[in-house]
Amino acid sequence: MKNEEKMTLREAFSLNFRAFRILRQSCPGLFESVFCDAVLTALLPYIGIYFSARILNELSGSRRPEVLWRWVLLTVSVTAAAALLKAIALRWKNSKEELYWQKGYFVNSKKMLAMDFCVMDEQSTQDLYSQILQNSMWGGWGLTQVRSIFERIIGGLCSVVSALALSVGLFLVPVPADSSFAFLNSPWFVLAFLGILVLITVVSPMCATKADSYWVKSAESSRFSNRLFSFFGFTMHAAERMLDMRMYSQQDIGTAYLLKENHTGSLTARYAAGPMGGLAALSAAISTMFTGFAYLFVCLKAWAGAFGVGSVTQYVGAITALATGIFNLMKNVGDLKNNGAFLKTTFEFLDLPDRMYQGTLTTEKRADRQYEVEFRDVSFRYPGAENDALRHLSMKFKVGERLAVVGENGSGKTTFIKLLCRLYDPTEGEILLNGIDIRKYKYEDYLQVFAVVFQDFQLLAFPLGQNVAASQNYDRERAEKCLRMAGFGERLDSMPKGLDTCLYREFEEDGVEVSGGEGQKIALARALYKDAPFIVLDEPTAALDPVAEYEVYSNFDRLVGDKTAIYISHRLSSCRFCDEIAVFDGGQIVQQGSHESLLAEQDGKYAELWHAQAQHYAKEKEREEIF
Ligand code: ADP
Repeated sequence: MKNEEKMTLREAFSLNFRAFRILRQSCPGLFESVFCDAVLTALLPYIGIYFSARILNELSGSRRPEVLWRWVLLTVSVTAAAALLKAIALRWKNSKEELYWQKGYFVNSKKMLAMDFCVMDEQSTQDLYSQILQNSMWGGWGLTQVRSIFERIIGGLCSVVSALALSVGLFLVPVPADSSFAFLNSPWFVLAFLGILVLITVVSPMCATKADSYWVKSAESSRFSNRLFSFFGFTMHAAERMLDMRMYSQQDIGTAYLLKENHTGSLTARYAAGPMGGLAALSAAISTMFTGFAYLFVCLKAWAGAFGVGSVTQYVGAITALATGIFNLMKNVGDLKNNGAFLKTTFEFLDLPDRMYQGTLTTEKRADRQYEVEFRDVSFRYPGAENDALRHLSMKFKVGERLAVVGENGSGKTTFIKLLCRLYDPTEGEILLNGIDIRKYKYEDYLQVFAVVFQDFQLLAFPLGQNVAASQNYDRERAEKCLRMAGFGERLDSMPKGLDTCLYREFEEDGVEVSGGEGQKIALARALYKDAPFIVLDEPTAALDPVAEYEVYSNFDRLVGDKTAIYISHRLSSCRFCDEIAVFDGGQIVQQGSHESLLAEQDGKYAELWHAQAQHYAKEKEREEIF
């Protein structure tokens, strides 16, 4: 957030209005219901003030029973009707708010999911997103603040109008001309009183808004301590972190950082102890002074005989409510201005442009699954990186072939897959699907051609079958078949609820915790269920034990069937069964061929890696034997 830039009220208003339109569109009816509830909530107290004044006036004046009865009946019926309407409006608002919490909060996450992967993957995007989340958690600032500002401004407006209507008489009803307080009738006195009233009501919210503006000032500097707080306050207790936490007492380092922040005193704390707190206190003091002032004026006029006891309660109530109403109104205009600065960050994020060309061609659904992919002189450099991650890469996948991609860490294997799935576009060269540049295809269509098991796959805490099918309604037979093919059969048989067994225990007490290897099998089954013409496996056996790994190799042909398979691994021994092996080194394919032909090239990278790994595994075996 650019705190240094001063924002005009007009600019802030237009940002808040834009947010209002977005929320209104995603939650139809929300603002209408909030409007009705706010109006009724604001009006209710004035009904009480007005009618009780009438009753008190009658009681302290003529005391006519029939008039008293009439006022009492009117009071009860009008209050009851208003309360009933308010209850209905509240119900309406609550039902709309349910939708709002879902949809309003999803505006940012929807953008995150829809944007180009390369934009999402940038540090600046991640920073913006976490800043937005932090602003929202921290002080409710940003998109969702607009709903509360709207509610408070509508309430404030109604309050001010009603209070004005009820307090007009205070200035219009004169004290008797022969009274020693006749000076109260002078228009100058009334003007002076109104002047002080306005001054007090304006200065007080100004102080409060200024106090709140320190939130904006400290937003940026609070980022580190906020993240520390949310991590060590909430995330660190996650089950998967607990082992490392206990083993290395990681909480100590977190506490040390937190304490350091507290000792030096965060900027927010210093502001709170200094100007922010001072201004908030001043604002409260000024507004209390106002009440005293209003009492003095009303009581003097009543003392001089301008009106009765009942009207005293009405005027004091109305004038104090007027001041509160003006205070709230101004304070909310201030909030609107402060929120403008936070919304700027939100819109900077929501307006991040997509950079990738979006084609319109559909990938024809070929019954023969003859999809051919070619990399033609492809180079790629990550945004901001100094070197190319891939350099002049050319290769063609033969349909139905099993291709292994091997190479040391950092040689470009994962980048190659990211380009293949069009998570990034090449910096130079092109990738073709059946002879056509992949940029020309509709992206969702293009993705249907691939099923990838990423190394850091993610499963959901939902039933097993739904995880495999990535859907709630699915073909149970096919899901089971895929799980068995992926080597999960035995485990599935041991589950009394079968495909309906919930993974993990977040939502279901009888959910199952799956091990890394079991998870990998489920992820593999999910890729098989997708039944795409290309299957890409990134280190698919990393978490498997040797027996399970052997099973995957020996079943590989059956597993992938007529699909074109790409198998990425840094372990050469697990690639031997592939027809073709591409050896990556420094972002280039330095060798390509079958295992035997590659091994025959004595000076080649493949032979070098093979011997190094063979030695390593031999040593490992030796070590195992010793122990
Ligand atoms: P591999 O999968 O073979 O281990 P990668 O494809 O992940 O290799 O990495 C290839 C090169 O690209 C490495 O030098 C790595 O540091 C760099 N790289 C990977 N991801 C990014 C990224 N998001 N931004 C910048 N550089 C990256």
